Formats: sequence, C-alpha cells, structure tokens
Amino acid sequence: QAKQARRGHQIYSGDSDDTGPMRLRVLQELHTALDQGQLTMHYQPKLDLSTGEVHHVEALVRWAHPERGLLYPDFFLGLAEDAGMMRRLNQVVLTEALDQAVLWRQSDHPLTIAVNLSASSLVDAELPHEIASMLAVRGLPPEVLEIEVTEEFLMADRDRTRHILARLRDLGIRIAVDDFGTGYSSLAYLRELPVDDLKLDRSFVFPMAEDPRAAALVFSTIELAHSLGLTMIAEGVEDEISLKALTDNGCDQAQGYFISRPLAAPALDAWLAARSLE
Ligand code: C2E
Ligand code: CA
Ligand code: CA
Ligand code: CA
Repeated sequence: QAKQARRGHQIYSGDSDDTGPMRLRVLQELHTALDQGQLTMHYQPKLDLSTGEVHHVEALVRWAHPERGLLYPDFFLGLAEDAGMMRRLNQVVLTEALDQAVLWRQSDHPLTIAVNLSASSLVDAELPHEIASMLAVRGLPPEVLEIEVTEEFLMADRDRTRHILARLRDLGIRIAVDDFGTGYSSLAYLRELPVDDLKLDRSFVFPMAEDPRAAALVFSTIELAHSLGLTMIAEGVEDEISLKALTDNGCDQAQGYFISRPLAAPALDAWLAARSLE
C-alpha cells in the first residue's frame, strides 16, 4: 500500500479501528472540503541549475480547514485513499493546477506544473482520457503537465500501471519517478517504465552536505539518470553547499526549502517577480 496510507493511519490511532470517532469526523469534514472547495494548491519552484531560471513547479495539495487551519497532505491523504476518495481528490487537484497553468501561460512567466498521483489513481484506465480532455477544454498543450508517481506503487500493478503511464506519455505529458531510491527494485523498473524525470528522494539530498555517502549516492544517481537520458531533479535541498554540489555535478534541477517553500500562486508570482529584479 501507499506510504501515505500508512502515515495517515498513524493519526487515527489504532489503525484496525476504521470507525474511530476522530477518523469518522475528519472523513465527513473531507467530504465537505471537497464539496466546498477547501482544498487548495501550493506550488514549489524547481530551479534549473544550468541557467538559474525557474520554468517548472510542483503542485502540492493543502486543506484550508475552516477550524483546524492549513492541513498538510500527510494528515488527510491516507484517509482519502482508504475512503476511496482519491478519484475526486485528483479531479480537484488537476482542475486547480490546470486552471492555474492557464493563468501562468498568459503571464510573462509561463510555468509547467507537476502533479502528484497516488497509488490508486494509476490503475484507473479512464485517467489518460480524462486528463486529455481537461487539457483540451483549457486549450493547454500537454507539455504544461507532468505527473509524479512514486516508485512504491509502480511496483503494485506493473502491467496496468505501465500501460496507463505509456498512454499519458503518448499524449505528450511528462512522467517523473518520485522518491527515487526508497523503493525495492528501483533499477528493475527503470529499465521498463516510460519515464522522463528522476526525482531522487530527499532523504539522500538533505544530508549530502554532511554525509559523504549520501553525496556519493546523489552524484551516482545524476550519472545514472543521464546515462538513461533522464532529467535529474534533486528534492529537499536545504542548504547552499548542497545546491552548489548539485550544480557542480551536473544535476539538472533542484527543489527545496533553500530555494523556496511551496507557496500559494500569488506568493509564488511575487517570489518570481522579486527574483527577476535581482
Ligand atoms: P512529495 O511528492 O515527495 O513532495 C515533496 C514534499 O517535501 C512536500 O511535502 C514538500 O513540501 C516537502 N519539501 C519540499 N522541499 C523540502 C525541503 O527542502 N525539506 C523538507 N524536509 N521537505 C521539503 P508535502 O507538501 O507535505 O507533501 C507530502 C507528500 O504528500 C508529497 O510528497 C506527495 O507524496 C503527497 N502529495 C502532496 N500533494 C499531493 C496531491 O495533490 N496528490 C497526491 N496524490 N499526493 C500529494
Ligand atoms: Ca512529488
Ligand atoms: Ca518526493
Ligand atoms: Ca514523498
């Protein structure tokens, strides 16, 4: 099962008891959230290390809860997954992200958006068609969208997943392997899956300034990615030394708190504007 699902369970203590009162209440609130549009997206820039420019962002879902405040995906994604709500959640996420993509395309700094899709989504044979029409009604080219999938569930239903990924990619949508290095047979599926980008998990990246082994793994992964013709993205970059080491070693893109936290679209626009003045 997805990592999110396990993490989600931790919040609702005693994960065999699916009817815990807290769990049920949050589930009801989540239904309301979807109905009333309380889910919102934050966007984290990916810095292009060869040019210092930003052309890509990752969309990360947030729940603007009326009483509990801003909630992060670890709090509710597992629950949504277990309750069979991911299809709706994906629709909300894709709608928000693609509407924003339209705005950015009309702006002076067009950005492509990467969206995370979780385990249950990539077995849905309708998905490629649905995404294609969401792009079409907005007049968006497929290149504005990227799908990030974790290797964990690339393993779950391999043939089906590969088929759906291949269809998405045939449409012209980029595919990224997320959290690379944390799953079981990373190398095996890299051989067979249709992907464009490799996102090395942040557990290798954030310690790299202090841990030579972590750094060695990062640098080898850059070479691995390039030898397969993939774009290498390092996530979880939290300090300048790491950013410089990644740049010096040919990493293509970097993402992390040192560059910027995930921001609501207006804040990201302001961040981009301030950068262009530097
Ligand atoms: P992820 O796809 O690996 O996303 C990266 C996570 O790392 C984000 O957490 C981001 O805020 C955080 N992060 C970014 N830079 C740094 C850094 O420098 N240091 C550290 N420590 N963390 C950093 P977030 O937003 O809480 O999301 C957690 C996970 O929830 C994501 O992990 C992704 O798997 C999932 N998720 C987020 N949004 C969505 C969504 O719209 N749909 C689905 N299905 N899953 C989502
Ligand atoms: Ca991701
Ligand atoms: Ca990741
Ligand atoms: Ca993750």
